Amino acid sequence: MPIREPPPSSLNTSQPGFRSLEGEYDDLWAKDLRSKFEELLRTKQQNELGRPRYLTGPQPPRECSSLSNSRVHASESPSPKTPQLPDYQPSTSNNSYSDVPPSYTSLLAMPGIPSPPVDSQSQRCRNLLISLSLVPTKYENPGLLDEALQVVPLDQIYGEADEESGVLQAQAESMGDGREPEWGYQDCVIRALLRWFNRSFFNWVGYRPPCQICLSPTIAQGETVPAPLELAYGALRVELYQCSASKCGAYERFPRYGDVWRLLQTRKGRTGEWVNVFTMFCRALGSRARWVWNAEENVWTEVYSEMQKRWIHIDVCQEAWDNPKLYTERWRKKLSYCIAFSNEGATDVTRRYVRKAEHALQRDRCPEQVLLHVINDIRRLRRSNMSTVERFRLEKEDSREEKELRGYILASIAQSAVSNLRLMDLSVNSSNHSHAADEQKLPTELSSERLASRRSGTQEMVACRGENGLHHLPSRDPPQ
Ligand SMILES: [Zn+2]
Repeated sequence: MPIREPPPSSLNTSQPGFRSLEGEYDDLWAKDLRSKFEELLRTKQQNELGRPRYLTGPQPPRECSSLSNSRVHASESPSPKTPQLPDYQPSTSNNSYSDVPPSYTSLLAMPGIPSPPVDSQSQRCRNLLISLSLVPTKYENPGLLDEALQVVPLDQIYGEADEESGVLQAQAESMGDGREPEWGYQDCVIRALLRWFNRSFFNWVGYRPPCQICLSPTIAQGETVPAPLELAYGALRVELYQCSASKCGAYERFPRYGDVWRLLQTRKGRTGEWVNVFTMFCRALGSRARWVWNAEENVWTEVYSEMQKRWIHIDVCQEAWDNPKLYTERWRKKLSYCIAFSNEGATDVTRRYVRKAEHALQRDRCPEQVLLHVINDIRRLRRSNMSTVERFRLEKEDSREEKELRGYILASIAQSAVSNLRLMDLSVNSSNHSHAADEQKLPTELSSERLASRRSGTQEMVACRGENGLHHLPSRDPPQ
């Protein structure tokens, strides 16, 4: 069987420059860069009489899109919409100058000192997160993982992984500079699992599932009460469909099971069921895996790459690997919270998926300090039975991930600042020659040429994903 080339999304991280760009810049660097930009922008501004004050002083309050995604109403859908608080307002303006570096804290949503929930809304948010955090703990059951391994065609998975990792190893060696292969064997195992799961194992339940008697399309009849057996398997709701053929008229039930054991038997569902089972399979094959909950009614998986020493985004329904910008830049969705849960704790990974302020939805479920407090609580709880050494290792990893996530935002701020500078260059009087010298103040890594080429690389990636990742799965976009 021919090995599938790594998807174009891997370009994302395969370029050494890109990875180091995200890893090495810290707060000090950002502060320094910001002050240089601000100084430079002010200088330019003085050359332009009559331009409005958009650089100094507070940004005017902007309209924020409400939490809405009317197409979806999944069982994962946690709680009713809550009133918006004024403390976090990402910019969503269409103004051409809205790319001015956004306020650093607004993008980072810097939480400050953790504080326990006191008001009822924060309490509700805490309860929701605690109950969500239980989902991946259900995977930590040797009997379940054994049963999963009975289902997975291990020979096929390991065979494909052997082949692909061999190819990657050979590619790396052929470069002759001692570089490591892009993905390790463990990554290739999960990639093979992803392909098999998506193409051969799990079945998608469409919005008009075919009648099981005559295969005619059905018509949704809303929800119905779970039967005792369905309830026993953890289905809290059941979607009901009726066959559209007048001579048939049979009813079709779609119980939304949360129980992974049961889903191993039914092997069907929508995004919630797919991600639940796939994440458990990743655990069964020995990888560290996270179940990622998104407040805009989506879920996906993250697996820790031992080779790349970071968490990799996986969308099993789209067969997407390491493509964290899929939702915002490809689907044009706006996201508020993305929280990753595992048997090792919880992490706010929103910044991995929301790289720009324009893709951020208002975070209004609780104050950021409360969110941090709850996440710390969940970590403490999950790690309470671990050894000191293990806990210490995870804490170090937490800091490394925090640095990675901060890097995404810093890179985004720098990129929008440079874009803005170029915009201004076009409008500034051409008799002003100072900008040539100013340009040299930019770090080499961020020269506009470099950024332009990175941007077009991203566009290619998105275009390729459209062909390889989405079009062959038309019924699965967007997920529920
Ligand atoms: Zn029928």
